[in-house]
Amino acid sequence: MSAMRIVVKVGSNVLTRPDGMPNVTNMSALVDQIAALHSAGHEIVLVSSGAVACGRGAIVPQRQLDAVASRQLYSSIGQIRLINLYNQLFGAYGIAVGQVLTQKENFSSRTAYLNQRACMLTMLENKVIPIVNENDTVSLTELMFTDNDELSGLIATMAGADMLVILSNVDGIYTGAPSDPESRLIEKVRPGEDPGEFVVASKSGFGRGGMGTKCGIARKVADEGVAVVIARGDRPNVLVDIIRNPGSVPHTLFEPSTEPLSNIKRWIAHSDSFAKGVIRVNAEAASILRSDRAVSLLPVGVTAIEGEWEEGDIVNVYDPEGRRIAAGRSAMSSRDAAVALGKHGHRPLIHYDFLYLE
Ligand code: GLU
Repeated sequence: MSAMRIVVKVGSNVLTRPDGMPNVTNMSALVDQIAALHSAGHEIVLVSSGAVACGRGAIVPQRQLDAVASRQLYSSIGQIRLINLYNQLFGAYGIAVGQVLTQKENFSSRTAYLNQRACMLTMLENKVIPIVNENDTVSLTELMFTDNDELSGLIATMAGADMLVILSNVDGIYTGAPSDPESRLIEKVRPGEDPGEFVVASKSGFGRGGMGTKCGIARKVADEGVAVVIARGDRPNVLVDIIRNPGSVPHTLFEPSTEPLSNIKRWIAHSDSFAKGVIRVNAEAASILRSDRAVSLLPVGVTAIEGEWEEGDIVNVYDPEGRRIAAGRSAMSSRDAAVALGKHGHRPLIHYDFLYLE
């Protein structure tokens, strides 16, 4: 089998024991498998949660702390423990690991995005395994990733991965509650299908993300041409089996779209939560954008703009009914757009190459 670039996301519930201490058994089983894939020539990026959970097991604060302060305190302590353990475990195989701590802001401008991407690619080129987590010590609550599932989706598309494997505490997506014996595991989700309706709103243990988020992220990432697998992280050899012998292990596979987006459109597609502004268009412009034609957004169809941005920033486009129909990289600052709005004869506000349509 040809070498693949694989992003593996592992959640706090797999990595920590109920008392908050690192689950060394699960961690070393995971490292053994990643090491095996690495030595077979696959490139692996590990998105690992567990910083907050590990820190929580390590310290009792002097006084009651609010959510932000406790997240900062716990993650500052827990992240070192986590990365030290990984370093030791991978070190036994002679594999170098590197720590990548990131924030949502690093995805919101093209320069920051490309810079982060370049770092990751240099690590992979040098056979280093990047271990990625959110920098919980400085992330602002309102600007945080929803959870590490969202982060892993962004990393997978950014790294141009062939596959994203989300290791969770269940075997995949079921047609009902996983605990209900009537529920069936959905083995394959084809492009265009959305099993979200089946997902029971429940969330367990330490992690932030539930199956609903995982499902939404998986759908989006698969639409962008990356195969996504959700599987149970503590099954023996789960990761290696998924790559080498997928029939032998229960999981849900989201098949990748055969018409993936270009790199820049992938980035824009993920931008809804960090766009800098809003462009409202009239019904005519909305229907032109929705048509199959390769069109750019012209200022003449714009009725209003909201927010302040610079040329090159990402903005969302809304139709008159208030639905987001597109996002794109603005070719004008919000000041210039305000002058051109509603007028003929101006250059495109968002060029087709930088326009992602919903
Ligand atoms: N970044 C958080 C941590 O490492 C986890 C976020 C999540 O649960 O997805 O503790």
